[in-house]
Amino acid sequence: MTNASKLYQFINCKILRNHRIVKEDIWVRDGKIVNPERIFYDEKISADVKIDCKGLLLAPGFIELQINGGYGYDFSFIENTEAGIELVSKKLLEHGVIAYCPTVVTSPVDVYHTVLPKLYPRQGGAHGATILGAHVEGPFINKEKKGAHPANCILDYQNGISELERVYGRLDNIKIITLAPEFSNSSSVIQELKKRNVIVSLGHSTADLLEGEEALEAGASLITHLFNAMLPFHHRDPGLVGLLASDKITQEKKIFFGIIPDGIHTHPAALRIAYRVHPDGLIMVTDAISAAGLNEGQHKIGQLDIEIRDNKAFIAGTNTLCGSIATMSECVRNFMKATGCSPEYALESASLHPAQALGIEDQKGTLNFGADADFIMLDETFEIVSTWISGQLVYNRTTDL
Ligand code: ZN
Repeated sequence: MTNASKLYQFINCKILRNHRIVKEDIWVRDGKIVNPERIFYDEKISADVKIDCKGLLLAPGFIELQINGGYGYDFSFIENTEAGIELVSKKLLEHGVIAYCPTVVTSPVDVYHTVLPKLYPRQGGAHGATILGAHVEGPFINKEKKGAHPANCILDYQNGISELERVYGRLDNIKIITLAPEFSNSSSVIQELKKRNVIVSLGHSTADLLEGEEALEAGASLITHLFNAMLPFHHRDPGLVGLLASDKITQEKKIFFGIIPDGIHTHPAALRIAYRVHPDGLIMVTDAISAAGLNEGQHKIGQLDIEIRDNKAFIAGTNTLCGSIATMSECVRNFMKATGCSPEYALESASLHPAQALGIEDQKGTLNFGADADFIMLDETFEIVSTWISGQLVYNRTTDL
């Protein structure tokens, strides 16, 4: 356990910094990564505590932008409790996730009013991962691309931002809104959301490329689970997928996209296409459902009977898949296998890229000096050995650290 103001030196490790894995120590004080040169030359002090990392790889902790729940608990349940949120936050530490956006799918209005006040941003620690604010996926989506969202709860935003405020209640706890941009009024709604520091993500949509580009111009900066719940790529109108290669993308107008590398929801060839076309925008998301983390066998989640079989979630008694139950560390390993990308890239697309998409890369997603000391240690197979938040050990696979 680390204490504030003490100086900690993590020795005997490789670290991921600036897209490269290098042999270097990490210095931590007051929960932040500090520059050792200043300490040597200005303060002339040495570390209070040295922590031997035993040759492990130290990388920025994962940031998850789309997760519906886990361990039988769903962020969209109206009856959700503080204990359920705490359980998921705590368990995520085991998978290297140091911060996340709990995701609420299309729901009746009273669910938003009940659930969103509970999903307020909060600092992580031994009790669980940091909550960055909620991701509300819907209800302003296209019925034709609703996926598993309930059609009777889908709404439109013809009345502008006031309709979003009516449906969600206050927007304060919302970090990301997934909406379909092909309806009238979308530019003004996106501009208003941007003013309120909400990230607009495009998804569950039949938008063509032009509509996607207009949304980008208005301030949208993210695409929700690329390839899933949008028009398939067509050479004359490449749709939202085409945004990855749009000539409207500039240094100021970037586009990021979530993608689900759970080995089921996105074909390895599709992962390779996205990776090769727009590598800097790629963000791994699990989109995990409440069944994630449960043991093999039958479970009741809300009204739904589900069955976990061969590490997949099915509607009980059928072969119908009902969502992802992958962990972020599994996604990182799947992605490396599917694309042949470097470990540096795979790890950054689950840490640096989501931080950049949220505009928090000064604090999270890197091991740069001044950043939060939120990191993970991985073994040579890229399994999580330990997780650290603000320089404090919050999860340890073994007991020898
Ligand atoms: Zn979705």
